[in-house]
Amino acid sequence: MARSYLNEARRRVAPKRERIRPIIDRLAAAYPDAKIALESRSDLELLVAVMLSAQTTDVNVNHVTETLFQKYRRPEDYLAVPPEELERDIFATGFYRQKAKALRGSMKMILEEYDGRVPHQLDELVRLPGVGRKTANVVAAELGNPQGIVVDTHVRRLSQRLALTRQEDPVKIERDLIRLVPREDWGRFPHLLIRHGRRVCIARLPRCEECVINDLCPSSRV
Ligand code: SF4
Repeated sequence: MARSYLNEARRRVAPKRERIRPIIDRLAAAYPDAKIALESRSDLELLVAVMLSAQTTDVNVNHVTETLFQKYRRPEDYLAVPPEELERDIFATGFYRQKAKALRGSMKMILEEYDGRVPHQLDELVRLPGVGRKTANVVAAELGNPQGIVVDTHVRRLSQRLALTRQEDPVKIERDLIRLVPREDWGRFPHLLIRHGRRVCIARLPRCEECVINDLCPSSRV
């Protein structure tokens, strides 16, 4: 059992099924504008931005896509240039070779199998080269069709501290959260935890004294 979970288990709070509603409501009130930080104006731009965001910051991706999206407007555009040119254009996001390869592979499949349109179903999105479950979840949720819950480092840490899961593996954490979080909140739930994780429940030293859900959290130090 994870140490964080052991610590949590020592404190008494209501069962997670009773806590989840007020946790969501209070975080939603605290962060009414919590949403994806990546900028995009179409399904295609959203997919590309999320694919580029692996291992880098959203600010960095937004900086790159500001000019990228002026040059690459359709899936065909990513295949019309030599691979090295695309690599140069996304260089600043890091891992540019793998990302360029994934982008080209995805654009090819989108053109050949999806009529040039970004699919909305999770099982279709994960078929695209270089698109893992996390990327697919983010894209599906932003397209208004969440079919899972995005588990990144913040969602994982906060879910454990709040004793919403005792799992370590992101897929198993997602499974726990899907059972717990009402479906209509699947899309915004990760954004709320991410915002709270960046501002208050920070990794090294959570600011429990200023946390709006500290009475609902078994890991609270106040
Ligand atoms: S800041 Fe403290 S009280 Fe709030 S969720 Fe994190 S560990 Fe719990």
